[in-house]
Amino acid sequence: MKTLIKNVYVNQELVNILIEDGKIAAINNEENESVDQVIDGQKTTALPGLVDVHVHFRDPGLTYKEDTESGSKASAHGGFTSVCVMPNVKPVVDTPHALSEQLALNKAKSVVHAYQYAAISKQLIAYKPTDFAEMNRLGAIAFTNDGHGVQNAETMYLAMQAAKEANKPLVAHVEDDSLINGGVMNESDAAKRLGLPEMSPLSESSQLARDLVLAKATGVHYHVAHISTAESVELVRIAKARGINVTAEVSPHHLLIDDSMITTDDPMMKMNPPLRSPKDRKALIAALLDGTIDMVATDHAPHSEQEKSGSMRDASFGIVGSETAFSLMYTHFVKNGIVDLNQLIKWMSSNPANLFHLPAGQLQVGQPADITLMELDQPYQIDANDFLSKGKNSPFIGEQVYGKTQLTLVDGNIAYQDGSEE
Ligand SMILES: [Zn+2]
Repeated sequence: MKTLIKNVYVNQELVNILIEDGKIAAINNEENESVDQVIDGQKTTALPGLVDVHVHFRDPGLTYKEDTESGSKASAHGGFTSVCVMPNVKPVVDTPHALSEQLALNKAKSVVHAYQYAAISKQLIAYKPTDFAEMNRLGAIAFTNDGHGVQNAETMYLAMQAAKEANKPLVAHVEDDSLINGGVMNESDAAKRLGLPEMSPLSESSQLARDLVLAKATGVHYHVAHISTAESVELVRIAKARGINVTAEVSPHHLLIDDSMITTDDPMMKMNPPLRSPKDRKALIAALLDGTIDMVATDHAPHSEQEKSGSMRDASFGIVGSETAFSLMYTHFVKNGIVDLNQLIKWMSSNPANLFHLPAGQLQVGQPADITLMELDQPYQIDANDFLSKGKNSPFIGEQVYGKTQLTLVDGNIAYQDGSEE
């Protein structure tokens, strides 16, 4: 099977991309006539397929929120071709059997490459680590209890040793439960004004400090999920300078909105970690720009309409992100002149691919034809009706952005095409 994508920009040069048997066969100006399929790129920009190391597909067990098919279609709509799926489903992916079932489900239902996390401990809360060796052998991409912090130092220490042995990242949702106090938003003037229970930012940084000490002792690749405070990034900065093998991801929402923007009791502004202070947000941006933070990940967290209505007190934590991440980042960081497109591609494709050892992130001959065509010049409005995710829970609805996915190819096959939605 040969496909020719005509008329696309790669590094600002107008070229054609020849795809043969799922791989990129040529990037040049030649008009190869003997192909099975020709796609007119219409002078859009071709990017290596985006990589998201943090998505929740809610399948099995919570499929009223999302399922593997809808979640992966949302990823493809957002320009992602490789994603890493969190294990907090029902049943939790905490045994070799559950992992095998999950891998089969991902393979059968996902329209993008869906890699699978395994849990660090049973039900994401037990003290004893799971069977890392066997789950590594079966193909777990990394280990995490995302949704819960690992409360016990010994559990984390043993888990890090096992992850190091498996040569896989240990991914931490850093949160000390003893400093959460039933909070629903960040400790802030806004929370006090709204009379809502507050979560201390120390919950994140204090546990992170512990983990960095353990990471140093074990030599594991320790990855911080959705980092959110100024103190946390300072700790990562110091750890990196001392040679500790730590990486970090940040979500678009923690970069773009903060607790000073929460003016009403709005459940769409409820996520975990919560939106932090303007000072924290500034520190996250600085850390992304100086390389302390390595990548952007969405923490795509779909919920039903009912779960995201009413007061922040009762609403579920989390927002969807797959279908808005690129456009928000492109608009606020590239269109606004802070970085160039290549830097954004590093944050959203090549860095996560390299650091998680995924065969992705390079638009080059010989690489898998995981390619995203983006229209970068026409502004449009974020509209929940356009989401392919079952979740419509986003605080960015109505925002005017640039960066619209025209086509997403996974191994040369069409995973999303603009205008052909069901
Ligand atoms: Zn998390």
